Amino acid sequence: MQQHQSTHSQPTGEMVIGAATVRGTEGSQRAFDPARNSEIAEPVFGLGGAAEVERACALAREAFDPYRALPLERRAAFLEAIADRIMGLGDTLIARAQAESGLPAARLQGERGRTVGQLRMFAQVVRDGHFLRATIDPAQPGRQPLPRSDLRLAKIPLGPVAVFGASNFPLAFSVAGGDTAAALAAGAPVVVKAHGAHLGTSELVGRAIQQAVADCGLPEGVFSLLIGAGRQLGEALVAHPAIKAVGFTGSRQGGLALVRVANARPEPIPVYAEMSSINPVFLFPAALAARAEAIGQGFADSLTMGAGQFCTNPGLVIAIDGPDLQRFVRAASAALAAKPAQTMLTPGIHQAYAAGTAQVDGVAGVEKVAAGLAAGEMPNAASAALYATDAQQLLSSPALMEEMFGPASIVVRCRSLDEMHAVAEHLEGQLTATLQIDAGDHAEAARLLPVLERKAGRILANGYPTGVEVCQAMVHGGPFPSTSNAMFTSVGATAIDRFLRPVCYQDLPDGLRPAALQDGNPLALWRLVDGALVQP
Ligand code: NAP
Repeated sequence: MQQHQSTHSQPTGEMVIGAATVRGTEGSQRAFDPARNSEIAEPVFGLGGAAEVERACALAREAFDPYRALPLERRAAFLEAIADRIMGLGDTLIARAQAESGLPAARLQGERGRTVGQLRMFAQVVRDGHFLRATIDPAQPGRQPLPRSDLRLAKIPLGPVAVFGASNFPLAFSVAGGDTAAALAAGAPVVVKAHGAHLGTSELVGRAIQQAVADCGLPEGVFSLLIGAGRQLGEALVAHPAIKAVGFTGSRQGGLALVRVANARPEPIPVYAEMSSINPVFLFPAALAARAEAIGQGFADSLTMGAGQFCTNPGLVIAIDGPDLQRFVRAASAALAAKPAQTMLTPGIHQAYAAGTAQVDGVAGVEKVAAGLAAGEMPNAASAALYATDAQQLLSSPALMEEMFGPASIVVRCRSLDEMHAVAEHLEGQLTATLQIDAGDHAEAARLLPVLERKAGRILANGYPTGVEVCQAMVHGGPFPSTSNAMFTSVGATAIDRFLRPVCYQDLPDGLRPAALQDGNPLALWRLVDGALVQP
């Protein structure tokens, strides 16, 4: 591997390993433009292997203690410096991401806003210090029959984190996306494996983070970006002893492969994999009677947003059969018929969409009730598809419960509310479940809620699941297979908890305690003292 320092504004095909840029020598790859269906000539990316994994992980291990020991203000300023550096890339970043993803510039500008917004939100989370969960149970020397020691709890980061960039958010869930921001906020160095679908975008953002590390005078190993094949470099990264947790968004197969690697280590580590969800939408009778057309139109917009390439895409619609459901289907069909085909992120994702819809097409008792405009000559483009079947067919056809990643959904006709319940009970774990309800539906919706709470991480009423707010209360997670660990969220402020663990300090002298737990409360934190929340 050859190393040098550089300040290019266009990607060069190199990896970022600490303060160095490194050209991989384990093969090469060009980025791909899905809209033109051709490779992007420049640059050629050198792929990394075991040597680069070793170097990045060794640097991350070295950086861990000094980085986590920095004052919180410096950690927060670093997150803001990354956001500034990303904005400083200007249109170069948007143009490169557009060429590599086929996504429109406006969407990517919005996604960049979300990316820097996430980084700035985490800067605030770090400054607040609430994530440390500072808790003090003072000593009770006179307690009978035994005295109590002084016990104090605070959270520390797990250790260096491996992040796998997602294909469907080249900015907001990739190199400087939600997983990276949450891990850096927790005080954990990050080693990213770039997604092959946007190598140049990844490099540009990786260099921006590298510059922010230098701007802030941090240890170089706080961040590295590797390029290479998942099955070699990706698995080696997860297996490396310096890595203590993994963040992933992608396929069920890929996520489970990484869980297996993590569990087979001499020291198993947590993998936070967000994988597959079909996001059921339940249309209740009163809502359907009152506004079937509006619901149908809104559904079609949600289904086709971003060519359906969202983990929260509404892939299943459940309602009682009858004239009101027919009105919904007619309205959704009319709206979908006017939706143009859209370029998908990669030829592989396009092929998977074609295979998924073909599989559903082939199930007996399933009819295609609507389609979007045909792709014609557009390469790698998906047209929307709406299917219909009945509940009994759905319950007996595992293929209908699989995620079709793209703008396709299935309407499930039920005979009764009880049958809607049976479908809900049959669902695997989901990121979201949506209720379309009016006042007359509330009693029945209340009956369904306990089932949905068991199945989903977010339950929403009278909206659509696409569009995930980044905020304190967001949960973007859920039972398997929507994620590999239902106890956490990958979006929002509490995503930081995935990369933290509690440590209890018993009877330590005040000077040896972390600042969060010292008697003088130098960080001015709200703390739980003897079970009561105490203001600074
Ligand atoms: P993917 O194939 O799971 O790949 C995601 C990342 O994981 C890539 O960097 C990949 O590296 C790596 N990887 C995959 N398998 C691996 C393995 N066995 N060991 C180590 N690393 C591995 O996902 P994708 O490329 O984004 O899209 C493929 C399909 O995933 C889509 O068609 C869709 O069904 C699903 N998907 C779902 C969501 C969601 O949010 N639910 C989001 C995106 C994609 P390499 O590419 O180098 O192998």
